[in-house]
Amino acid sequence: MPFALASARAWTRAFGIGCAAALAVLPCIAQANAAPQAGRSIDNELRLHAIAYRLGTANAARCTAPAMLTGMILHDVGAYDAGTRAAISQRRGLTYGFGVRKFVPGSPADHAGIRPDDEIVAVNGTDLRDFATDAIAARGSYDRVARFEDFLSAALRDGPATLRIRHGSDQRDVTMTGEAACGGEPVLVNSGELNAWSDGKYVAVTTRMLAMAGDDAELSFVVAHEMAHNALRHAERLGHFSPLLAEFGLGAGKVKQTEIEADKLAVEMMASAHYDLAAPERLLRHVGKFDFLDLATTHPAIGKRIEMANTMRHQIETTLAASTATQPATESDAPAGALALADAMTGGSGNPVSV
Ligand SMILES: [Zn+2]
Repeated sequence: MPFALASARAWTRAFGIGCAAALAVLPCIAQANAAPQAGRSIDNELRLHAIAYRLGTANAARCTAPAMLTGMILHDVGAYDAGTRAAISQRRGLTYGFGVRKFVPGSPADHAGIRPDDEIVAVNGTDLRDFATDAIAARGSYDRVARFEDFLSAALRDGPATLRIRHGSDQRDVTMTGEAACGGEPVLVNSGELNAWSDGKYVAVTTRMLAMAGDDAELSFVVAHEMAHNALRHAERLGHFSPLLAEFGLGAGKVKQTEIEADKLAVEMMASAHYDLAAPERLLRHVGKFDFLDLATTHPAIGKRIEMANTMRHQIETTLAASTATQPATESDAPAGALALADAMTGGSGNPVSV
């Protein structure tokens, strides 16, 4: 494995919500059926990040305190087990900073001229040599990178930041501007379980789930559903409530209501990001081929979810068509469809997130 992040078990622990989570969009049981598998490759990570970036930035207004994204997928020495740290660091040019593995095309990192294997060694003049070194343990983990991403996001809220970049023996400064986004950070978890979940901050998708989605639009529904849980603060709402008990039917109605809300907002978020609104039905039909009895009490039936998604799609497209028909052709240089869609999404009521 080229990049040994923390194990799926560690991630689950970090998220605080595991497979029995109320927020699981899809079941937590490992499937024995033959189905496409995908590894936790950097290309798969980039695919997930690109979708989350597109959804998050298109829906930034749905969060009162959006995160500031750069589009970079980072790593550091602490992400690797102590035994492999030296070799990988040498190969990838890592010292004490944060290396750029890949970045989302068109993101702030792209605009700033960042290249793969650049290493960020200072932010706004602050050297990163001593940054969160307590997060580096014998076992590789993502903790230090996560803390740096929070630190960088906070810095970018105050405006563009100056990043000192080291690449080999060269150093240069770049100016990075953050892009506001809502919904949470994506994490690809190497797992044979068909699942995705969220904890208020992160959106976890398993490699099996990623492989199951037929195209990016289908995968965007999975990601948007989890982002919707985050944007709607469902983890907080269900804070005093046991998802495990819900699996046995105790208080399941409350969980089911959050699932319905997440599905509906997910379709709206996909529309804002200009994804194909026929994709939720395709994805759900895929998922429906598997028998997930253990979710029957907490999630609406697949047929019901398809019906709701298509009702949302119809409402959005009808509103969009009506707005486009009355849009003055010369009002703006922006495409009329985009303007009408933006109007349709906000509905004139501002932030559509409810509690
Ligand atoms: Zn859900």
